[in-house]
Amino acid sequence: MQSRQKSLRSAADLADAGLIPRASLPELERVAARYAVAITPAVADLIDSVDPSDPIGRQFIPDTRELDTSPEERVDPIGDAARSPVEGIVHRYPDRVLLKLTPVCATYCRFCFRRETVGPQPMLSRQAVAEALDYIAQRPQVWEVILSGGDPLVLSDRRLREVVTRLAAIAHVKIVRIHTRMPVVDPQRITPRLASAVKAQAKATYVVLHANHPRELSPAARAACARFVDAGIPMLSQTVLLRGVNDDAQTLAELMRAFVECRIKPYYLHHCDLAPGTSHFRTTIREGQELVRTLRGRYSGLCQPTYVLDIPGGHGKSPIGPGYLAPEGRGHERYLVEDFNGVCHAYPPADRS
Ligand SMILES: *Cc1c(COP(=O)(O)O)cnc(C)c1O
Ligand code: SF4
Repeated sequence: MQSRQKSLRSAADLADAGLIPRASLPELERVAARYAVAITPAVADLIDSVDPSDPIGRQFIPDTRELDTSPEERVDPIGDAARSPVEGIVHRYPDRVLLKLTPVCATYCRFCFRRETVGPQPMLSRQAVAEALDYIAQRPQVWEVILSGGDPLVLSDRRLREVVTRLAAIAHVKIVRIHTRMPVVDPQRITPRLASAVKAQAKATYVVLHANHPRELSPAARAACARFVDAGIPMLSQTVLLRGVNDDAQTLAELMRAFVECRIKPYYLHHCDLAPGTSHFRTTIREGQELVRTLRGRYSGLCQPTYVLDIPGGHGKSPIGPGYLAPEGRGHERYLVEDFNGVCHAYPPADRS
């Protein structure tokens, strides 16, 4: 597919680019009116437009099933609103806060957990940013600030440098973490100048990359990640477990290996949140546990993400991976522990032979 200069931002753009059939324009315009649509040139180039079940296309091309909301789905699936003391801040855990600088993303994921709030709207006002920074400055327990959104890397280098510099100047803030999809969706955005803008002086900056399929780690995306890591910014990954995208052990393993090859340590595998109109993406937790069990032992320990569920209602994330340890006997600290082949062993061992 030829390279394009501009992002696709409407159902009509997608039809013009040959990514959706013209006949489905009216119904997909209804989807696009409900949930933001954007596909960058880099993402359009990754999509196999001939394959209707292409795992990249499935993540970004609107689908009429998004208009079906199931009873358990909710507008605010992980309860951000209940934990937002001032505009732009979500403070769920004692030692860290989210700072959402903008609702804009370069490309909108069809399964986005914040799909009711992301989209092409204005960024946080200067006044609101100042109040959010005051909130952080007044709370010595806040050790880490996570720039999220939206995608914080849509902001200019100058704006990012300003916010990171002001955060790094707060004595108790030791870590600035950036959650982004940008190295995948617009690799050219990751310049040495951007890496320098987000690197906190005398503090640590981490970048957490959201990617869900090994093909997203294209040569250009890998080079973009290398620009962060070479600048001294460690990287972690987050992946959403998605039906028809990465819900098989081989794809998931290839993705985790691709991260590790890029010097990105796999961090979280998220169970797909209960955002409206996303049930066609959701696996069962049992399926997720089986996938994670398959990775363990067969692939390097470096390739193991933690499978987590963000508990609806704002209660935070909990690990929900398979358990390997079962208590045994009464009163004593005895266990059965399962190895990676599924065989159970007593611990401590019953005898010394
Ligand atoms: C996910 C999340 C974090 C980060 O949690 P970690 O387990 O530290 O990655 C922090 N604050 C909020 C509100 C979150 O939703
Ligand atoms: S990049 Fe993140 S915030 Fe933006 S649409 Fe995708 S999941 Fe949502």
